[in-house]
Amino acid sequence: MIVMKFGGTSVADCAAITRTIGIVESKLQQRPIVVVSALSKVTDLLYKISDKAKEKDNEGAAELLRQLRERHLNLAAELIPDNAEILADACARVNRLCDNLEYFVNAVCALGELSERSKAVIIGNGEYLSSNVICCAMNARGIRTRLMDSRKMIITDNNFLKGEPQTEEIIKNVSREVAETYTPDMDAVITQGFVSATAEGEPTVLGRGGSDYTASLIGMSVDAEVIEIWTDVDGVKTADPRKVENTVSLDKISFEEAAEMAHFGAKVLHPMTIEPAVKKNIPIYVLNSMNPSGKGTAILQSSFIEDGVKSVSSKSNILVINIFSTKMINVAGFLMHVFEIFSRNNVSVDLISTSEATISVTVDAGSQNIDKVVEELSTFAEVVVDSNKAQVSVIGKNLDNVNGILERTFAPLKDYKIYMISQGASYVNISFVVDRESLDAVVSLIHKNIFG
Ligand code: ADP
Ligand code: ASP
Ligand code: MG
Repeated sequence: MIVMKFGGTSVADCAAITRTIGIVESKLQQRPIVVVSALSKVTDLLYKISDKAKEKDNEGAAELLRQLRERHLNLAAELIPDNAEILADACARVNRLCDNLEYFVNAVCALGELSERSKAVIIGNGEYLSSNVICCAMNARGIRTRLMDSRKMIITDNNFLKGEPQTEEIIKNVSREVAETYTPDMDAVITQGFVSATAEGEPTVLGRGGSDYTASLIGMSVDAEVIEIWTDVDGVKTADPRKVENTVSLDKISFEEAAEMAHFGAKVLHPMTIEPAVKKNIPIYVLNSMNPSGKGTAILQSSFIEDGVKSVSSKSNILVINIFSTKMINVAGFLMHVFEIFSRNNVSVDLISTSEATISVTVDAGSQNIDKVVEELSTFAEVVVDSNKAQVSVIGKNLDNVNGILERTFAPLKDYKIYMISQGASYVNISFVVDRESLDAVVSLIHKNIFG
């Protein structure tokens, strides 16, 4: 079996979905489990709908809901032009999902109160809509396909907007659902990325970009031969091609390199995608659905990968938290006290640097509970939160073996201020902080100096 995940741009419209179905069709021998995201921009639209509902803006929400329904009904009609029965089924599914959503959104509007639990219900609808329409379109093309419900498989804790997957439950559920659904008369099965549920069946989601994670959790559960992440670029590149010129696709990188790149800002993979695949040593391929014959990037065990720099990643959505305290000097246990506060509030720290009386850390600006952390730290230290910084990471295997890597990284930056330089003990990354306004220039300069 293989898992094939198609992101938003790969299922954006009729042309993209037709290409995607062609790609699946070419792999039926390998028994694909297809994981799809919402159509491009639909999750953003659902976030807007939830905002309107919270503001009690009935009319605003209704207009966006109308657009959502119309886009999917039009898409179904375009995709299924010559099978009235299947088209009627597709439209009925879209209408049922949109009716239920409308009912739910109206209830939230009436209350004007949007809990995280309600938000998870609303924003997960994109994947249900896309998977239903695509399932029907595949059947209309003669590919015998059934839908599986991710919320019966991907079990998380009750962190509604960023659920923590419960591996054992997931393996059990995926095996059961696949055995029940993927009967010998089926060519493929299809399911939703991103959405998940608690053990009690309360809807949750895996966080933005989470469909990659769904694919790798499913791949792990069925011991897939390979996990394919189909997206809109020719694989994992030396930097984000939207921000940097002359990037090149990497033929292969290690699981560790991919995990670091994703964690330190390369949006091409959700940061947690690698972990489940590593457990079963399943190769991940990142491929371009607009160029399906391209080689893409293979993500493999480290022994297949050469030492050296692979990419420059960056994260602009960070906060630097500076903690000053004279009590820190010579007092054992101070650091422990500080990090216990981060840990208890579930805020994960990326970079750390310390001096005599200061600790600076970077955290993802989207982390919940940062206010609580700052409040607790402020009871015994002066805390300054800096939101004008960004983080740059140079990533590659055994960077300590790479001649002149520090010079190649920092030499072009003589005109820029650099803060908090850190080299991980694993030598997979060198990271540092710069002023947010210099980020794009800094990343481009380093990329040019290292990759030409
Ligand atoms: P999908 O909707 O298929 O999940 P995403 O938009 O989440 O696609 O991820 C693909 C995008 O990731 C690319 O269009 C590219 O702009 C961005 N990206 C960031 N860093 C990298 C990188 N190192 N290599 C490739 N793409 C990257
Ligand atoms: N549709 C979700 C998002 O836009 C999940 C994904 O695309 O991976 O974040
Ligand atoms: Mg993505």
